[in-house]
Amino acid sequence: MTTTTLDKAAIQKKYLEERDKRLREDGNAQYQRLEGVFDDLAADPYTPWKERDPVTDHVTFAFIGGGFAGLVVGARLKEAGISDVRIIEKGGDFGGTWYWNRYPGAQCDTASMIYLPLLEETGHMPTEKYAHAPEIRGQCVRIANQFNLYEHALFHTEVTDLEWQETEQRWRVRTSRGDDFTAKYVGMGTGPLHVAKLPGIEGIDSFKGKAFHTSRWDYDYTGGTPDGGALDKLSDKRVAIIGTGATAVQCVPHLASATKELLVFQRTPSSVDVRDNHPIDPEWFESIATPGWQQRWFDNFVENQSQGMPAEDLVMDGWTELSRRIREKVLTLPPSEWNPETMMAAFEDADFEKMDEIRARVDTIVKDEDTAQDLKAWYRQLCKRPCFHDAYLQAFNEPGTRLIHTDGKGVERITETGVVANGELHEVDCIIYASGFEVGSEYTERAGFDLTGRDGQKLSEHWSEGMRTLHGLQSHGFPNAFIVQPSQAANLISNVPHNIVDHANTISTIVAHAEAEGYAEVEPTSEAETAWVDLVLSGSGMMIGSTECTPGYYNNEGQGLTEKNRHGLGHPAGARAFFQHIDKWRSSGEFKGLEFRKA
Ligand code: NDP
Repeated sequence: MTTTTLDKAAIQKKYLEERDKRLREDGNAQYQRLEGVFDDLAADPYTPWKERDPVTDHVTFAFIGGGFAGLVVGARLKEAGISDVRIIEKGGDFGGTWYWNRYPGAQCDTASMIYLPLLEETGHMPTEKYAHAPEIRGQCVRIANQFNLYEHALFHTEVTDLEWQETEQRWRVRTSRGDDFTAKYVGMGTGPLHVAKLPGIEGIDSFKGKAFHTSRWDYDYTGGTPDGGALDKLSDKRVAIIGTGATAVQCVPHLASATKELLVFQRTPSSVDVRDNHPIDPEWFESIATPGWQQRWFDNFVENQSQGMPAEDLVMDGWTELSRRIREKVLTLPPSEWNPETMMAAFEDADFEKMDEIRARVDTIVKDEDTAQDLKAWYRQLCKRPCFHDAYLQAFNEPGTRLIHTDGKGVERITETGVVANGELHEVDCIIYASGFEVGSEYTERAGFDLTGRDGQKLSEHWSEGMRTLHGLQSHGFPNAFIVQPSQAANLISNVPHNIVDHANTISTIVAHAEAEGYAEVEPTSEAETAWVDLVLSGSGMMIGSTECTPGYYNNEGQGLTEKNRHGLGHPAGARAFFQHIDKWRSSGEFKGLEFRKA
């Protein structure tokens, strides 16, 4: 059954042809880290390094990572009465992703009202529907100040070892700065996208001009500021930007208006839909910001992303639009025909139509016909991270901006003077790598440390066949340890902060109970963990991640889900089912599946 007039078979054929151009056998191995290629590209350009003595004390809770996860967990623990929370962070301040990513134009793609955590607790009103990075980082600092999280924090510090001390019933934490302290509980929120990556191309370290990754933006070189000041030192520069993902889409317009010449090297075009940002009206905000409002907005967003017919869409952003369109399609059918198959057919039709619109939008904006053709995305919308912008496509009308489309092949080589693509050398003064972040590697590899739990078992060993947790949060054999990330839980990738806030609520509920009852240890039973993993694996998998999609980190670089990374899926019935389950679990006070032990 179809409700569209598009020639789906012809479009599907084109999707597969485009995917095939981009497929390569080396998958994730095609990338490399910044460290080792050019170490100065990996350094922190934002905060000077401060010498300090190593710490050797004891805290109740140590949390690794000072991004949203550390901040929200820290805040919830403080609310629960835990006064000594220590956050350990590799950057020079709080913010995580938003500490590092200060490239011009950086902003959230999910509506600020649900993207910025703890808005209600801090009383902050977002200034825009999609807030820019300085405001998001400001919210991080606001949370840290309000909940006194600077007090025990260690910045420019990386954890190297976490080891469970059986006799003392506490964790020993060691770091890159010689710290050696203990903590009753540990939490990890190192983020899915925190290790910057570069293409593993020949000659990358031979370039004699300026080069940096977008997450290490060098404003000394470009001029300008993260809050929108023009990049005034680039007016006589030829600049290359490699990559056209969500980051490039946001910073290309700023480069296009500032550089003498901008060359945008594209391997796969992003789908770029309308942004339609606007300031938030304080009167409107006051009218909706009644007690419990942010949780209501979270719930409404999730409801709009789930199957069903929600009464309203409060959030109205690019993510809920697709769901609205699917519902509208389903509503054209009589209720007697509503079933999972018709829902899937409606989803597919809505997707084909949306992508057709996005491609047509390129023609209405980009004046050069060949460039417009090359900027069109030929895949389903959720095959790659959808982008939204009202100045990116327009940037290609700037006289000095040129798209170098490599038709799925990518940049071939870097030389001392420039970038080689399609067999041609393009000489430039500066290369900006908008090449993204490591995704397909092992959790412990990306984190930079491995937990040593009970009986000397490593987390990497416990997870050797795939992740094993109860609720995505705790693993058997690793008492008093919490891992804050979306897998084996809601897996709501369209709004990562919601996953984090919810996990923080669970952690503070468990810790408050353990402290009130005088327990020394808490961990999931092996049976509860196995049952939870079995539940996760019983699902059919996500719609994203299909090998029919063009390669990227959503589908393991075209190689699809392996049995091992199927363990990284979420609740089989979706995000809403997970949130409902965990909410009941928390409020029951029974802590089913957990074992608490006294000293
Ligand atoms: P991505 O991984 O999405 O994009 C990397 C880009 O580099 C792709 O265009 C990729 O091409 C290209 N590339 C890699 N190797 C080569 C090569 N050899 N030659 C040419 N091009 C190459 O990274 P981003 O930093 O853009 O985004 C990462 C994620 O961060 C996003 O998906 C999103 O989740 C998050 N983000 C969120 C934002 C927000 O919420 N506002 C803003 C920015 C990022 P190809 O596509 O072919 O692989």
